[in-house]
Amino acid sequence: MRIVVLAGGIGGARFLRGLKAASPEADITVIGNTGDDIHLFGLKICPDLDTVMYTLGGGIHEEQGWGRADETFTVKEELAAYGVGPEWFGLGDRDFATHIVRTQMISAGYPLSAVTEALCARWRPGVRLLPMTDDRVETHVLIDTPEGEEDAGSKGGRKAVHFQEYWVRHRAAMPAHAVVPVGAEHAKPAPGVLDAIAESDLVLFPPSNPVVSVGTILAVPGIREAIADAGVPVVGLSPIVGGAPVRGMADKVLSAIGVESSAAAVARHYGSGLLDGWLVDTGDAAAVDEVESAGIRCRAVPLLMTDLDATAAMAREALALAEEVRA
Ligand code: GDP
Ligand code: CA
Repeated sequence: MRIVVLAGGIGGARFLRGLKAASPEADITVIGNTGDDIHLFGLKICPDLDTVMYTLGGGIHEEQGWGRADETFTVKEELAAYGVGPEWFGLGDRDFATHIVRTQMISAGYPLSAVTEALCARWRPGVRLLPMTDDRVETHVLIDTPEGEEDAGSKGGRKAVHFQEYWVRHRAAMPAHAVVPVGAEHAKPAPGVLDAIAESDLVLFPPSNPVVSVGTILAVPGIREAIADAGVPVVGLSPIVGGAPVRGMADKVLSAIGVESSAAAVARHYGSGLLDGWLVDTGDAAAVDEVESAGIRCRAVPLLMTDLDATAAMAREALALAEEVRA
């Protein structure tokens, strides 16, 4: 069975681990979000691709969910001693090596898709990991200009900051007025992306952020259309449980696009034109009718990825729902 998964970072990566356990023989292609990518210290950093690669390849810091296990921070400390930041973005020594290799290959002319394949030759994630695009897309967030930070870039009391600055530096503490995947409208799907969708037997949306992970991937022209046209079941799992994200601040970016933080509202946001099936948590069973009345088949099942068994069970539920809508 050929499965395509649209993945962000932690939520996507953890779900993929469960999917591999639930369906070891499946041929899985992951289309990874690159809107979170950031250039720091002259290096290109792809947080979501790396989270998937490290998680499936056994190199992830398990408790944290991102970054490398057994990490040290000597380079960061030395940079700080020079007064060189940003200090709010945690890059460890082991992780730096990944970004150095990536940047070196990109400087030599390789597209990100080829670089990702080369990095995966080491990590062997057991899936085909494709960036959504080889082109540069950067998610920016429009916020009220923080006190004392007025500059040429801030207009009418508002300024656009890089998604990582909003998310990591500010911990999404202020309202997001808009979320813009800058560059997406001119981006082309990376080689292999549209073919993988067209040749798939089903498409899954893991419990990844609907706005800045899955939403960004869908903003690359051609990807949404390819999924809608593939004629295969498209099934998603809610990242919102009990009216709040299980982890992180997805509610902040949902409100920026006018979507309520509820499992049903996220399903309606994707819409029946895209989504055939949707899983909500058992605690949100009351949302099932609302989702179904929007034309999306819905089931309530446990959706907390507490361990591999629980996550594999979620994946099996998603596969079962896919077969149900296919029939
Ligand atoms: P990021 O790029 O690291 O933010 O990761 P993703 O976009 O892939 O996933 C983030 C989303 O995963 C958040 O909105 C969380 O609510 C969701 N999430 C994390 N852990 C769980 C879980 O155990 N169950 C569910 N249903 N969602 C989860
Ligand atoms: Ca991310």
